[in-house]
Amino acid sequence: TTKMIATPTRTQEILRKYKFSFKKSLGQNFLIDVNILENIIAHAGIDESAGAIEIGPGIGALTEQLAIHADRVVAYEIDQRLLPILQDTLNGYSNIHIIHQDILEANMDETIKANFRSDQPVHVVANLPYYITTPILMKLLRDRLQVNSFTVMIQKEVAERMAAKPNSKSYGSLSIAVQYYTTAKVVMNVPKRAFMPQPNVDSSVLRLTTREKPPVEVDDEDFFFELVQACFAQRRKTLRNNLVNYFKDKEGFDKVTISETLERIGLDGTRRGESLDIAEFALLANTFYEELN
Ligand code: SAM
Repeated sequence: TTKMIATPTRTQEILRKYKFSFKKSLGQNFLIDVNILENIIAHAGIDESAGAIEIGPGIGALTEQLAIHADRVVAYEIDQRLLPILQDTLNGYSNIHIIHQDILEANMDETIKANFRSDQPVHVVANLPYYITTPILMKLLRDRLQVNSFTVMIQKEVAERMAAKPNSKSYGSLSIAVQYYTTAKVVMNVPKRAFMPQPNVDSSVLRLTTREKPPVEVDDEDFFFELVQACFAQRRKTLRNNLVNYFKDKEGFDKVTISETLERIGLDGTRRGESLDIAEFALLANTFYEELN
């Protein structure tokens, strides 16, 4: 049997054969540890009936493991230089479809319909390029992509922010944005030595399970997310002061009326944004949305 791609020797061999030079600007840190990949795939809940979507296959380390464990794999890679390499390294697998495209420009809905059966569970599994982790995940979540879960390797601090609960130092608007669409959990930390080259930051695997519907009812999602951001604009300031600042150019929304509104809905204006849970943010946003319209 040939050696798995995700080993130091095989990876080095491939890199040498193709004289491949890493592009830092594309977040290229390849995984060289099969155990870690199998762990990621187990956390993703992949089985032989599942469809898998990968973002950024690199030289195919994770793609190969997905091909072994899943029914079918679709992978998006932006770097043209990797296409002939992937064709070579994954040549023994017939259930992989590589798409040469920037994930931020992809019509994934269409790809899902074209590649997976409608009754098939589909999971996104990726070792994401760290420079665009948040834009990628927010795009997939806001587009309400029809997938069951996202299991992604990302920078540890970002994973902690996405999974954070109220009153913790990592909790912020990103936590709310992610948890509006999913339940989020950090499932493992991954040492730097699992990558080639080793990244400068620590990494964790985050598992996001898609919710059937959001945990709160929100009148206007854009306004909701904007107001949540406003409540965290200055973390040291009170909820009231952040709101006063957010509404400062809006007639009829001065400190007094904002205080009255907060009192009416039973929210203490001296609290900090970081103490509000998603239900309280929804109440706040729906109340102000009604007053604005
Ligand atoms: N999956 C491989 C592994 O684990 O060894 C490589 C992971 S590496 C961290 C990230 C990969 O994403 C690279 O192959 C990079 O070229 C690719 N990439 C970067 N930006 C991308 C984008 N906008 N769309 C698609 N792929 C991208």
